[in-house]
Amino acid sequence: MRVFKFGGASVKDAKAVKNVAKVLEQTGFSNLVIIISAMGKTTNAIEKIVESYLNKKTGLSVLILDLRAYHFTIIHQLFEEKQHSVFQKLDSLFKDIETTLKRNKSTQYDFIYDQIVSYGELISTTIVSEYLNYAGFTNVWLDARDMIKTDHSYRDATVDWQATQQNIVNKVDKNNLTITQGFIGSDTNNFTTTLGREGSDYTAGIFGYCLNAQSVSIWKDVPGVLNGDPRVFENTQLLSHVSYEEAIELAFYGASVIHPKTIQPLQRKEIPLYVKSFLHPENDGTSVKKGQPLDPYLPCYIVKKNQILVSLSSLDFSFIVEDNISELFNLFHQYHIKVDLIQNSAISFSVCLDDKFGHFKELLQKLKSKFKVTYNTDVSLFTIRHFTHEAIQSLEKEKDILLKQITRETYQMVSKD
Ligand code: ASP
Repeated sequence: MRVFKFGGASVKDAKAVKNVAKVLEQTGFSNLVIIISAMGKTTNAIEKIVESYLNKKTGLSVLILDLRAYHFTIIHQLFEEKQHSVFQKLDSLFKDIETTLKRNKSTQYDFIYDQIVSYGELISTTIVSEYLNYAGFTNVWLDARDMIKTDHSYRDATVDWQATQQNIVNKVDKNNLTITQGFIGSDTNNFTTTLGREGSDYTAGIFGYCLNAQSVSIWKDVPGVLNGDPRVFENTQLLSHVSYEEAIELAFYGASVIHPKTIQPLQRKEIPLYVKSFLHPENDGTSVKKGQPLDPYLPCYIVKKNQILVSLSSLDFSFIVEDNISELFNLFHQYHIKVDLIQNSAISFSVCLDDKFGHFKELLQKLKSKFKVTYNTDVSLFTIRHFTHEAIQSLEKEKDILLKQITRETYQMVSKD
């Protein structure tokens, strides 16, 4: 059994969907589960729909029509036969979006978000599954929400492994080609949940683990895992071999090529993870396996943008020590804020935060009542794994540096741009 994951870029238009079939021709498609994300930038587009709905903005119906037009253009290009059932299936998915919004009584942003954003994956998998059937790659479409069971933490759900394992084993027929959605699951009341942005990789890891897969492959628009994001850093190079530990570190520091939660389940069962180019499936790409040294051994550059650097000191000039620090971390947890870096001195405590869920303003009010607070928004957190002197020098050139930290293998720096 193998598991493939195709992300948004790999299904962003009709040509890309046809390319999925080409990849399958090369790799074979028996005993395979394919996890698919929403097409192109659909998740961002649906986020705007949710925002517009909740803020009662006027453009809501236009946003839905645009999303509909984008997907209908793709199916018009894929299916010559205009009576094909995919047209009706898509129509009813779009009707469902409108009905869900109309019937909704909740004011909970995260809950509504998951009920609506998940349509991105439901639509994309419907299109790809229908197209593959049409092109002779007979497959079975499964609803991931019937398999991935989670708690009620909407937008960042935690997987119930036992129930999920049981469902996956019961529902996936190992002899078939199965198509299902990344990113989405459901809670005990069968409301839709999501696993966090870019969570489809994680879904692939979950299926790989539960099916004892022989491998998991993530198909990307880059040749594999590079030693830096080519959109940000120059002269990036392909990493051919990476260990699980190194991949976890890279993903943890923000290398967006693999979702951080993906690797641990695979590492447990020593299931190899391949990251490959969907444009050149014949190339090896990157393999992530047990214990293999980083090859080639290069400094790896990572940047996390839109961070907030907060420095706190106590109002009564006392030190920031254990009791304050534990209180602070409770607050970060409570407000769903991710801490990416910590630095402590006698009288001040600095943290680099990721406000993924938009709760920083509320947190700030709370912090101000207890601490003296200074902060910078829109800062970038740079990390170099396996740094060299030259790597640091070239990264620091012309940067307005606010904070630096060096450990044995890892250099980190927060700068204003
Ligand atoms: N569609 C979701 C997102 O854009 C999940 C994924 O692509 O992995 O975040």
